[in-house]
Amino acid sequence: MRTDQSAGRWCIVCLVLAALGGACLADAVHASEPSAAEEAELSARDRRILRNWSVYWSFLIWPAGSAISVCFLDRDAEVRQLFASATEGWTRIANIRFDMGAAPGYRTCDPFEPSDIRVHFRSGSSGSILSGSSYVGTTSLNARPGKSTLFIAVQAAPGKPRRSDAELRRTILHEIGHALGLPHEHQHPGSPCAADYRWKEACARYQARAAKDATALDASRFSTQLRAQFLPRSEPVPTGMPAYDVESIMHYRFPTRLLTSGRNSGCFTDGPRTLSESDAARMKILYPPDAAAQAVFLTAQADIFRRTLAGSGLSRATAMRLAGFVEDQLRKRHAGLGIKIDVSGLDLPERDTTELEKALAAPKIMDLPEECRPAAKTAE
Ligand SMILES: [Zn+2]
Repeated sequence: MRTDQSAGRWCIVCLVLAALGGACLADAVHASEPSAAEEAELSARDRRILRNWSVYWSFLIWPAGSAISVCFLDRDAEVRQLFASATEGWTRIANIRFDMGAAPGYRTCDPFEPSDIRVHFRSGSSGSILSGSSYVGTTSLNARPGKSTLFIAVQAAPGKPRRSDAELRRTILHEIGHALGLPHEHQHPGSPCAADYRWKEACARYQARAAKDATALDASRFSTQLRAQFLPRSEPVPTGMPAYDVESIMHYRFPTRLLTSGRNSGCFTDGPRTLSESDAARMKILYPPDAAAQAVFLTAQADIFRRTLAGSGLSRATAMRLAGFVEDQLRKRHAGLGIKIDVSGLDLPERDTTELEKALAAPKIMDLPEECRPAAKTAE
């Protein structure tokens, strides 16, 4: 299997969407490749359980009022300027700052002065058809030193003309949303998208593309990517968060041929170009003016997370492992809050329940053709 090495494995989803003929607004949401130590602690299955719960994503935010350091790996002054201007769209409404160095040059990445976010503009020679990708929130701190954590494709593909400023700005806004901790809106628990995707057509188109495109994934990985990047997350959503919003900048533009109801689909958008009201509302909850309010918010989410563990069918051992991981991440990223997720008093089974295993094993894609279903043993 080959993937786009220039962008890393977290960019795979856009290859999928582009293969389906979609306007590939952005990339893979998710997350990081954890450091070796964290990977040993948390299996791919554990990560899948966590990412499926909406409440988990709220733990990936940066401390309110802090300055996130940003550097650029490419020297394209115009795109640096576009990037800097797009960040203001977010920082106007959120209590967070980006420290990009001084205008107009901004900061070039330096291995001796590490930055929290490392931005890369060029897609390299691998034939990448991504338009962008980013680590989500503080997971960029787990990236390998020197590796880019946020990617913006200046061209639709190598050799193609440069994308318009409006398109670039839109992609940048979306990727910065990820960098601030926002997941995809079409995967909101209230999203109607999953019921409207034309899975068979998607699979067939994907196979046709994969047959002639060396950067595509083999078909058995297709469903894994769909589950990770297209299917809705589960409740509970973090406290106070707005309902599903098709106009969110964090929503994909799906091609009409991929939607059963076409342009009439509740999942169809021809393109948010700026932040929606719900994007702003989310930011105000995640990065409130008063940093103490963020501590209250995170503490409340930790309590919701604990209750979610209690009702999930997870065994005591799994619940303790996941709670310990989240607690540890919060301690590292939000030092001083002292948030605890105590599962010792919960009534938990000794083994993970069969229902949970079934839910993890079977994507909610009832009519997916055999060739696009997961391989019997899916390595991740
Ligand atoms: Zn995205």
